[in-house]
Amino acid sequence: MRSIITLLLLCLSVSACKQQNGHKKEADPLAACYALAPLSGHKSAPAPGDWLYEHPGETGQSIERYMRSGFLRTDTVRRTLYIVKIGDFDTAGRRMLDIVSSYLSLYFLMPVDTIASVPFAAIPVQQQRQHQGYRQINSKYVLDSLLPGLKPADAFALIAFTARDLYPDAAWNYVFGQASLSAGVGVWSVARLGDYNASAEDFKHTLLRTMKVASHETAHMLGMHHCIRYRCNVNGSNSLQESDGQPVWLCWQCLAKLCYHRNAHPLEHLEGLYAFHSRMGLDTAAVIYYKKAVDILRKQS
Ligand SMILES: [Zn+2]
Ligand SMILES: [Zn+2]
Repeated sequence: MRSIITLLLLCLSVSACKQQNGHKKEADPLAACYALAPLSGHKSAPAPGDWLYEHPGETGQSIERYMRSGFLRTDTVRRTLYIVKIGDFDTAGRRMLDIVSSYLSLYFLMPVDTIASVPFAAIPVQQQRQHQGYRQINSKYVLDSLLPGLKPADAFALIAFTARDLYPDAAWNYVFGQASLSAGVGVWSVARLGDYNASAEDFKHTLLRTMKVASHETAHMLGMHHCIRYRCNVNGSNSLQESDGQPVWLCWQCLAKLCYHRNAHPLEHLEGLYAFHSRMGLDTAAVIYYKKAVDILRKQS
């Protein structure tokens, strides 16, 4: 199995080299990501109620398949990830969004900016409902009808952030977020992630969950499918309990996809997030993971 993976990496490295006119550095990121494979724990078999148990048709996405997928790319003009608020946030909510914006910029190695918020009144009443005690917005409407017309000319993608709960269609109870794999639009909600005004600890806990959902949805906007093999930020999640059990970081395969998309070495992503988590103190496991990953790759360089 190991030799098959190594062969695949060699093939992918050669392919990456050709795309970059043979410069050696472009071949290195994938091999560097593979060096992190021992840090990527395998997912355990899904139990009833878990995302993969309820969605058995998901087959994952290899690195090679990702490279051939025609994912949405940045270019010299469309290079910024934009965030738009749907509805107002209080001071703590705006602080949380500021932190998430910085986080997404480090994570995806691209500029992140915001545009003027959209009032709830802009969402047609037919695209809202009351369900399970939550006032909800139809996330499909947000993706298909609201966001495309709001995208700035230099936007790679636009993701909406709201305190209202989300539902993709009448058959679903809710989703934490939803994103298009190809259209550069996404949305995520803080409605079920915690009461960030209850205490300082609640703020930190809700912030970590918000970062997880925002980065997960943004990964989709880069064309990444759900990760089914490793414990990873791109795992599908069917509940808050399942999401809380998943890591905030990417497995080595999804990191390889990110590096291929950004034409970046994984250390750029890992060092930024190691510093971020060390400073924020939101997740001890993340600090330990990023330190191990950075140490492995620094020894290689
Ligand atoms: Zn997802
Ligand atoms: Zn993954």
